[in-house]
Amino acid sequence: MSSSALLDKLINSLQTMPGVGPVTASRIAFALLDKKRAQGLEMAETIKQALTNISSCPGCHNYSDSEGVECEICACASRRESGVLCVVETPSDVQAIEDSKSFNGTYFVLHGHLSPIDGIGAKELGLDVLFEKIVNNHYKEVILALSQTIEGNATSSFIANFCKRHDIIVSKIASGVPVGGELMSVDQNTLAMSLNYRRPL
Ligand SMILES: [Zn+2]
Repeated sequence: MSSSALLDKLINSLQTMPGVGPVTASRIAFALLDKKRAQGLEMAETIKQALTNISSCPGCHNYSDSEGVECEICACASRRESGVLCVVETPSDVQAIEDSKSFNGTYFVLHGHLSPIDGIGAKELGLDVLFEKIVNNHYKEVILALSQTIEGNATSSFIANFCKRHDIIVSKIASGVPVGGELMSVDQNTLAMSLNYRRPL
């Protein structure tokens, strides 16, 4: 039994975050109460603002500051003019590639991959939107940076076939990204190498 029901509630809610168990949750809660009340309140306000306002970018389906507004990356003229589009599965993949500082084009985020068993086909994944974007923007190259899983590879093949039918250069990030691995788990240098040594499909 703790001295405060609110404290219990705080610890329990912290534990809903990935990688945070009871010990870490207690440590964070006591740190906030003992020394970091101002930072904690600021953090709570930032979380509230982010969760209320962050929306899907109409250009790439990554996160943007608010509804209907392009994200910072889509809004950057030099990135659009690069003519290179990188297709990834998750917003965290975009972050991992950005952190590697090895790519200066734009992205398209699928928020998953083809998974017929779960009822996720081309339409559910928004591939019709992606294909329309690819055709309308006359990209020089489409880079596929999807997970090295059966579903990720099947999704890559599906997109690659579309690009080939439309005479658009399509490539896939090179080895270095482990089979079954997520881009976030790959160190920045390896990710930069796998982009630089991408192979044409
Ligand atoms: Zn965007």
